[in-house]
Amino acid sequence: MSAVLIDGKARAAALRAEVATGVAAFVATHGRAPGLTVVLVGDDPASAVYVGSKGKATREAGMISGEYRLPADTSEADLLALVATLNADPAVDGILVQMPLPKQIDSDRVIAAIDPAKDVDGLHPINTGLLVSGRDGLVPCTPSGCMLLINEAFGGSSGSNIAGAEAVVIGRSILVGKPMAALLTNASATVTVAHSRTRDLAGHVARADIVVAAVGIPGMVKGEWIKPGACVIDVGINRIALPDGKTRLVGDIDFEGAMARAGWITPVPGGVGPMTIACLLANTLKAARARAGA
Ligand code: NAD
Repeated sequence: MSAVLIDGKARAAALRAEVATGVAAFVATHGRAPGLTVVLVGDDPASAVYVGSKGKATREAGMISGEYRLPADTSEADLLALVATLNADPAVDGILVQMPLPKQIDSDRVIAAIDPAKDVDGLHPINTGLLVSGRDGLVPCTPSGCMLLINEAFGGSSGSNIAGAEAVVIGRSILVGKPMAALLTNASATVTVAHSRTRDLAGHVARADIVVAAVGIPGMVKGEWIKPGACVIDVGINRIALPDGKTRLVGDIDFEGAMARAGWITPVPGGVGPMTIACLLANTLKAARARAGA
């Protein structure tokens, strides 16, 4: 048996096209385009690449992209002041402060300062609370994207067979693991959250119809653990060195091993990654519509 490859690139392109159509309608009704402003503090090269691609995708969707690049020694007070300015700016619908922040800044305090209505990363405690309560709010982008891919594998969002499925989420971060578990719980899956202290991870994975791995350890989920036919979603992005001195991106799942047993599987790259930015654009449009009362 060989798994069906879930094409995150194609699904993300479809979502981005949907957002672009929604943006055009928003402009026609409200006379302005939705705006997303990204704030980067410091010069971490990976974060700079993410911020650049978010800006490009924002413009391609027809939205207004704002960008602030602040020095690494920016004080917490200065960053909070910028967040307050963006909160008050009617042209800004979405605010994203790129994590991680330098250590002199308390990221929890910064996240809590963002207007929850503009919190397109979905990390504000109000949005976290809405998600856990099963109410409408802004949901973190990576788990949202995973959920769209799982829904597709399970036969579409309506009448999906996720209800009652056994799901194992590996990783309990506030960015991925915890919101992923909440989304799957809201979709009536029976969810286990595994983490660094979990005993017998292999045993948990072996009974899962849905496996989501968000750990950051290359190939840590072995192919032989996977239940035949399971839907396997690999969030991990790990750069590994090859014998020839080059590097390659791999996920947290032993891809070849899992491919032989799973029903569906996401590749790395080209699986979850492209969905994250597409969901960020979708969140920005959603925030703009909500703020406009549409
Ligand atoms: P994190 O470091 O905040 O969390 C990692 C989690 O893994 C922790 O909850 C920890 O308990 C768990 N863990 C660590 N060792 C474990 C073990 N041996 N067994 C089981 N669980 C273990 O990371 P994160 O922000 O959640 O990101 C996880 C991975 O996903 C990283 O590789 C990151 O680069 C990637 N990521 C990808 C996207 C995307 O768009 N594709 C977005 C966010 C994160």
